[in-house]
Amino acid sequence: MILIDGKKEAAELRETLKYEVSELKEKFNKVPGLTVILIGEMAPSQIYVRNKEKSANEVGLKSEVIRYPEAIEEKIVLEKIKELNNDENVSGILVQLPLPKHIDKQKVIEAILPEKDVDGFHPMNVGNLSSGYESSVPCTPLGCYLLIKKIEPNLSGKKAVMIGRSNLNGKPMTQLLLKENCTVTITHSKTKDLKAECLEADIIVAAVGIPELVKADWVKKDAIVIDVGINKTEKGIVGDVDFKEVSKIAKALTPVPGGVGPMTIACLLKNTIECFKRSQR
Ligand code: NAP
Repeated sequence: MILIDGKKEAAELRETLKYEVSELKEKFNKVPGLTVILIGEMAPSQIYVRNKEKSANEVGLKSEVIRYPEAIEEKIVLEKIKELNNDENVSGILVQLPLPKHIDKQKVIEAILPEKDVDGFHPMNVGNLSSGYESSVPCTPLGCYLLIKKIEPNLSGKKAVMIGRSNLNGKPMTQLLLKENCTVTITHSKTKDLKAECLEADIIVAAVGIPELVKADWVKKDAIVIDVGINKTEKGIVGDVDFKEVSKIAKALTPVPGGVGPMTIACLLKNTIECFKRSQR
């Protein structure tokens, strides 16, 4: 079984991006800039943002974090986004989710210029992805996609089962697999026989949020299994896949932690660089 080492893959991707940033600096005499807006004091968001800032600096991006208190008015956030949209030193804007209840998430997402939407959540980018046009792709599915391609460069004709249909993970992941000519089944909480669907799959991507939902007898021999789930349990953080048992069957499997997670931030940096490059054309 191939243990897919997300930490190693993310480090390799960051090295490539670092080199790319130095080339861009030489060519344009400036570097891509990433601005993150963080609202409130939620511990996980603070950690994510700190890691994003650290990784951005590591590859040589210009990074900035704008912090607002929990009670900040929505209109101030929207005004700041407008200002960043017009700032030519800002290539990418990310508003860390979740937001406080009094702020309309969709309004915030749609306020960001699609060209600077490094999360790929703007409806324009969602539409572009599903139409097969160039766009920012949400970072976690993009990371999963790169991990799968590393194991199996030619995905044409493969049967893929996506467990979960969120805008964040399931839907964009499905689009990426379709683009690779996979035959994709998208499953969710109302799917009748998830085990039977999974047993057909050459590739399973699980983004559900249920600890160890995917069992060994759901997995076809030699399937590639990507575990997006991050679940806090009594035995620590576990994924949506029963790692110990599934590792005896699968051809390749991501661990949790250390699988998909590290790729997410690396892909955010990649998206920022792509936005910069598109803005220079
Ligand atoms: P979400 O928005 O809660 O969506 C979960 C999806 O799973 C929904 O589509 C839901 O179906 C489906 N589902 C729920 N129970 C199911 C069942 N019994 N069988 C089949 N499908 C079922 O979650 P998300 O934001 O996509 O996140 C999923 C997991 O990934 C979470 O554990 C989250 O923490 C983790 N995550 C990890 C990363 C990373 O970087 N590694 C990034 C983001 C999220 P319905 O649509 O019918 O409700």
